[in-house]
Amino acid sequence: MTTTVQHLIGGEWTGDPVRDRHNPARPGEVAVRAPAGDESTVDAAISAAEDARRAWAATPAPARGAILLDAAELLRSRHETVAADLVREEGKTLAEARGEVRRAIDVLRYFGAHGWQRTGDVFPSSTPDTSVFTRPEPLGVVGLITPWNFPIAIPAWKLAPALVSGNSVVLKPAELTPVSATHLAAALVESGLPAGVLNIVHGKGSVVGAALAADQRVRALSFTGSTEVGLRLHQTLSARRARVQLEMGGKNAYLVLDDADPAVAARTVAAGAFGLTGQACTATSRVYCTPGVRAAFTEALVKEAERFSPGDGLAEGTTIGPVVSAAQLDTDLSAIERACEQGASVATGGKADGLFLSATVLTDVAHDHDVARNEVFGPVVAVIQVDDYDEGLALVNDSPYGLTAGLCTRDLTLAHHFAAHAEAGVVKINRPTTGLDLNVPFGGVKCSSSNTFREQGPTATDFYTWSKTIYVG
Ligand code: NAP
Repeated sequence: MTTTVQHLIGGEWTGDPVRDRHNPARPGEVAVRAPAGDESTVDAAISAAEDARRAWAATPAPARGAILLDAAELLRSRHETVAADLVREEGKTLAEARGEVRRAIDVLRYFGAHGWQRTGDVFPSSTPDTSVFTRPEPLGVVGLITPWNFPIAIPAWKLAPALVSGNSVVLKPAELTPVSATHLAAALVESGLPAGVLNIVHGKGSVVGAALAADQRVRALSFTGSTEVGLRLHQTLSARRARVQLEMGGKNAYLVLDDADPAVAARTVAAGAFGLTGQACTATSRVYCTPGVRAAFTEALVKEAERFSPGDGLAEGTTIGPVVSAAQLDTDLSAIERACEQGASVATGGKADGLFLSATVLTDVAHDHDVARNEVFGPVVAVIQVDDYDEGLALVNDSPYGLTAGLCTRDLTLAHHFAAHAEAGVVKINRPTTGLDLNVPFGGVKCSSSNTFREQGPTATDFYTWSKTIYVG
């Protein structure tokens, strides 16, 4: 079951597939063959986007939105094929992949409808018989660089607001997962997106992504990925005064208080820590517990972890897919080993068979251990004891990251206090740190984000537009 993909440049599918991506659940199976772009491929894609941008910007917004709505319908008709391809290239379970494809469809619908919505404002003027109003203008050519962990949802939630706002786009999907983004692009092209409005270049981030970020014609770059790469891109984009949006890593904390039901807290933490094989930027990775609940909570969390059954995401009964690559598995196992060297114990999990790493709970972890400080990006969660709510909140906030944070309690006053004082872009009370509706703004603070424009929700188009003020007398 090998899928072949190509670059999309100026409306043409092009490029010889030279690179194989193996199915992480079946290392012997080539899931994808893809071309490897270079600087000249990026140059051609940006030129095509530059050629297409004026006509697309002049296309009425409802007509732009209509293409997104048609693409949503096409993708819906291909839902099962796309979800199965997503499992084969990335590894998550079929249920998770179906949910992700569904999200991409809903995002296209949401921003497709945006084409009909009111934009801009009208202001009273001090001059008689004069109208003053603003209108959002597209930026021009925008670059999108996306990670492997949500290979269709993240491209969709960047592409849809970019396109409906009238920009042309060059997208560089993660090298590990080129198929899902290709399905999305194909649905848009077949729905009538004009040639050159969307271009895709496959290949290495250090080559293709770097060339995209450095090109003066690219007016803005939206990036999701690691903090290390994101901060480097920030320097490149800032040096040439281009707009940049960065959504980066997390070290998401949960605080479980004595008054919480330990079983409910364990279910909530396990869903956030082990769902999606823990490979979500919003995954729960450190849990602070007050003394009265720690033992019962840890016991319940171990039981929850042991319920996750590793396997091929396409197989019946699998509830946790493989990690995405051998390199990622190395990172996960090294983090576990280092935690043990620093005094942690493995309460359950910690072992891999192939790329299948069982859901792992580490106990006896201290807040200054590496596993409590650094992102792991796998199904690994550390349990840490704190004396009380105040210490818990202080340690939740004592991190360079600030993407999501959660609290399990029945105390409404503390719930509101935590919501107000947790330093995170998203706060969840009695809900897993993962999972967000598509109609609400998403993003982090501190090193998790560029702290500028939010993705998703009603303000997502702000990043892709600038506001022009117009007087008509
Ligand atoms: P990554 O290594 O930073 O890669 C992300 C994207 O950047 C990929 O397309 C990658 O290309 C590209 N890239 C790599 N080096 C580059 C360079 N020098 N210049 C330009 N582009 C470059 O991250 P990842 O391993 O794919 O994803 C995991 C990370 O993403 C985690 O830290 C996770 O927390 C974060 N993430 C954040 C969010 C959020 O919304 N905050 C959501 C999902 C994931 P390749 O194809 O060569 O890798």
